[in-house]
Amino acid sequence: MKKHLAIYGKGGIGKSSTASNVAAAMGEKGIKVMLIGCDPKSDSSITLLGGRRIPTIMDTLRKKGKIEESEVVFEGFNGVVCAEVGGPEPGVGCAGRGIIVAVQALQKVSRAMKASDVIIYDVPGDIVCGGFAVPITKGMVREAYIITSGEYMPLYAANNICRGLKTLNTPLSGVICNEREAEREREIVERFASALGVPMLAYIPRDKVVQECERAGKSVIEGSPRSAMADIYRRLAMRMLTEKDKKVPEALEDEDLRKLTQ
Ligand code: SF4
Repeated sequence: MKKHLAIYGKGGIGKSSTASNVAAAMGEKGIKVMLIGCDPKSDSSITLLGGRRIPTIMDTLRKKGKIEESEVVFEGFNGVVCAEVGGPEPGVGCAGRGIIVAVQALQKVSRAMKASDVIIYDVPGDIVCGGFAVPITKGMVREAYIITSGEYMPLYAANNICRGLKTLNTPLSGVICNEREAEREREIVERFASALGVPMLAYIPRDKVVQECERAGKSVIEGSPRSAMADIYRRLAMRMLTEKDKKVPEALEDEDLRKLTQ
């Protein structure tokens, strides 16, 4: 069965590098993966395409009023097919609305989308604004993952995402900890995941190999395939493909969340 999954988490927490590395690791196994970046920064796919920025769907729609698949969908490392939604016009458009328009336009023209076994949506922000829940509300996404660190603000965003998922009756399949060198980080995120009743799928340590590969326009799977980090992403990819322990999450009370981080 096709897997349609979304990765959520506070801006700057490492969603794009996790999404692109997981996609590269799945591609390595011969799985047909499509990565759809929904972040206005359009940097989800850059490390799968040798550092190249691709034209976004929104920009192309604005210029031409329509899109062809060959203009906005590009094959990258390990056969991962990439598309970038792009951003709204500053001060005018709505990012959430842009995601709907762009993905619906893509669905009409994209054979790659139909042919993919796994579609990964890299979604910005937290679900406080309904706009960012669009991939779920439009039925594009059937399972969600949250990335956080052990710091309070990313956890606060992660908890809000859980509130949104509960409202939308959408299961959470797991929490991923991206290390930011907070004290007791692993323990805090493990306790957060366990309070939600889902597994912590991976603990991604801070490692300069990730930045080095990013600077070279590569995923870690491509740039440093024998590194411990590459194996961490490979294991995470496998868990995302096989994890069955999903659950519509019950968010923590703010007070309980605060206690968790103290
Ligand atoms: S915050 Fe929400 S409503 Fe506002 S532009 Fe972004 S997606 Fe649209």
